[in-house]
Amino acid sequence: MEFSEKEVQLWSQQLENKPAAEILEFALQRFHPRLAIAHSMQIEDMVVLDIAWKIQPKVRVFTLDTGRLHQETYDMIDRVRDRYGIPIEILFPDAAEVEAMVRAKGMNLFYESPENRHECCGVRKVHPLRKHLAQFDGWITGLRRDQWTTRAHVPVVEIDTANGGILKFNPIVHWTQQQIDDYVKTNRLPAHALYAKGFTSIGCLPCTRPTQPGENPRAGRWWWEEGSKKECGLHVAEPQEIKNKQLD
Ligand code: SF4
Repeated sequence: MEFSEKEVQLWSQQLENKPAAEILEFALQRFHPRLAIAHSMQIEDMVVLDIAWKIQPKVRVFTLDTGRLHQETYDMIDRVRDRYGIPIEILFPDAAEVEAMVRAKGMNLFYESPENRHECCGVRKVHPLRKHLAQFDGWITGLRRDQWTTRAHVPVVEIDTANGGILKFNPIVHWTQQQIDDYVKTNRLPAHALYAKGFTSIGCLPCTRPTQPGENPRAGRWWWEEGSKKECGLHVAEPQEIKNKQLD
């Protein structure tokens, strides 16, 4: 399905101040089952899934197994599957691509340079995501504007030009951390076990550390990189030369 910039901008304006449930209803009524939630097992995605599942119990959900996740994340995948009774689609990187990368650059290449880190995220995350999204008209994220400067202007709905021009819905983009915490408490949502150990944003094991009080919640991601965008290329475009290297 093709979408015009004008049409999608209009939807985004109409939905800007609507509750997340209304945004998800709009998306699911029009595009389910050619629409899926990208779920990282973090709390924002739990909120999105909970709201969406109450609207459409067969909502499609996928997650990326990079091969470098925490055991607690694997435990959480099973908890989510059991709670909602939905088959979570697990995406894996291409084995030949991973083999070639680690043969050439080692298992922990990401610590050596930003280029290596982006290459690893490209192979383990961006490529499997792009391949999976090719079957959909749209996807749903748990992005919030106040998470990091790179996310400050994320719209409620946009055309995802990096993924074939499908739609990308961001239904809790305007939520605060307090709103997330309140929703989780009220609805008794299960939480990833690493939050209790000081993690405030959870990615791959070698690339995520707990944060200290007062630090930005995403400061624990790729903590060794100075001035990093703290993005892996799934949501925010990287510099063109790196992007080409990742996605060609
Ligand atoms: S977060 Fe780290 S281990 Fe995971 S894909 Fe990116 S660079 Fe590789």
